[in-house]
Amino acid sequence: MDYISINNLSKTFQGSERSVPALLDINLSLSRGEFVCLLGPSGCGKSTLLNSIAGFIQPSAGEIIVDGKPVREPGPERGVVFQEYAIFPWMTVARNIAFGLEIKGTPANEIRDRVDTLLETLGLKEFRDRYPKDLSGGMRQRVAIARLLAIDSPVMLMDEPFGALDALTRRTLQDELLRIWQESRKTILFVTHSIEESLYLANRIVVMTYRPGTIKRNQVVDMPHPRDPSGAEFNELKRELGLLVMEEQERHTSDEMKAL
Ligand code: ADP
Ligand code: MG
Repeated sequence: MDYISINNLSKTFQGSERSVPALLDINLSLSRGEFVCLLGPSGCGKSTLLNSIAGFIQPSAGEIIVDGKPVREPGPERGVVFQEYAIFPWMTVARNIAFGLEIKGTPANEIRDRVDTLLETLGLKEFRDRYPKDLSGGMRQRVAIARLLAIDSPVMLMDEPFGALDALTRRTLQDELLRIWQESRKTILFVTHSIEESLYLANRIVVMTYRPGTIKRNQVVDMPHPRDPSGAEFNELKRELGLLVMEEQERHTSDEMKAL
């Protein structure tokens, strides 16, 4: 049984001068517990697809079913992390993490325990009473992830969450995320334009085409974790996917040239 199914999904943005066909007839299914990466160059509709599943964007055609129910709006079973650190600057780290639970009316002692555990898990213990402005980018993104985990939604939608981080922090958070995924068996849809990141994380990689966004390749990755980015299989797949992404990157570039 499919846990998430995207059926004939299209989205066209209507601008004042022209319309942009962002997604065209996307069909994609995720089983419960899958970790799927959406891969493609910028502009190929990755965020549009993720935001449609999140319920922030209404499709032009088609439908999305999550756990048997059609998506019409955002819901607590689908948690989202964005590329920009979407945390509240006026709240401490601990309050930011607690926020979603407070909204849900979770009892205070339960919130305290849960926040303590997450602070520990994500290496944020010493930062619990700090404000976001006093944290590095990597720490802020940890807070955003902790907040997502606090809500404990079965589906996690992540839009280039590590895109702005340095390589070392990025690898640390990738490892944290893999550990959490392996323990919790959440269903994760993770957007990235990094081939290497998708190969390090996903059990399936969906390569998208540039405008309109369609599915170019549905690549199962069955290497065990932790994966070795210098290994032969890793590099063979990296080369293969690299060619696919490059074709789309070129279409993007030639589109931009035409617009000049
Ligand atoms: P990606 O996340 O892969 O970079 P997006 O989903 O953000 O791609 O965008 C896909 C296409 O849709 C792009 O050409 C983008 O310019 C266009 N687009 C995205 N959001 C809007 C919007 N709100 N209005 C008009 N065009 C949009
Ligand atoms: Mg995007």
